[in-house]
Amino acid sequence: MKNRSVRRRLELVFAALLIVGLAGCKSNESSPAAGAPFVSAASKPAAQMPDADTPAPEKTSGFDGKRAFADVAKQVNFGPRPSGSQAIAQVQDYILAELSSAGCTADFDAFNGQTPAGEIAMKNILVKIPGERPGIILLATHYDTKRLDNFVGADDAGSSTAVMLELARSLCALHGRYQVWIAFFDGEEAVNREWKDPDNRYGSRQMAAKLAMSGDLPKIRAFLLADIVGSRELRIKRDANSDKALTDLVWTTAKNLGYSGVFVNDPTSIEDDHQSFSARGVRTVDVIDLEIPYWHTAQDTLDKISSKSLAIVGHVFVESVKQLQTK
Ligand SMILES: [Zn+2]
Repeated sequence: MKNRSVRRRLELVFAALLIVGLAGCKSNESSPAAGAPFVSAASKPAAQMPDADTPAPEKTSGFDGKRAFADVAKQVNFGPRPSGSQAIAQVQDYILAELSSAGCTADFDAFNGQTPAGEIAMKNILVKIPGERPGIILLATHYDTKRLDNFVGADDAGSSTAVMLELARSLCALHGRYQVWIAFFDGEEAVNREWKDPDNRYGSRQMAAKLAMSGDLPKIRAFLLADIVGSRELRIKRDANSDKALTDLVWTTAKNLGYSGVFVNDPTSIEDDHQSFSARGVRTVDVIDLEIPYWHTAQDTLDKISSKSLAIVGHVFVESVKQLQTK
């Protein structure tokens, strides 16, 4: 999460709610220390199903919205998944197992994030799909969740993690002109409640620095980030901190597929993992709907997630990659 004005507004609302409704109760704003237990999501079951009107994979270039929904459910069932927790280790194992089943080649990079709560062990995961030429199309998400009590992050970051897993299932079997890499970042969320550099984007900064050292960074032709893409009322605005031409490519692709009601032309300004790469000269675009009423609250649960929205975003990513493969 990352649009300053929107975030500040939400934080003010949250603060007001705390003062008005939770006077004397600080439990919702405490951030447990590394390794502290988080309350499991399993204590709050709710009936959650994929949408009946989810388009079939044949209609969305092979992307299976219902299977992506199951990936969100799986993550939510692990409970709160902040960096360094036992639950995020389960997510890492799950992602790696799913990638292996899909025939993907995946590496991981274990590192320590230097955070306000001390050193926290983190792990980036990177899928590499070969191409005929050295250029790279990099797709990305974060998979850690914000350090808040009872926060299971179905939309943030379950939805985009599910989209990238489902994309990997179809893309790993392909062999295009350019390489396609899919990154799963740890440590996107600020450890403190407030989003304030450098307390955020630990994983994407680590990967960008590592790719700069290895000489791969200049090979990245496009960086497409997804984050918070699963809501029922999904509306994705054009981010002013993204590359204009790359944003045009994605939004035109969406329009041609009939999704201009989801990929809208309203402007916004987002701070997110893409900035770790754009700061190093990479062309980036962020696909995010930050204006969800349950953002960074315990209400970010599986019932908020639409398998149809996941299918739409997945479809747009598959077709945007095809466009980028022709350039
Ligand atoms: Zn977040």
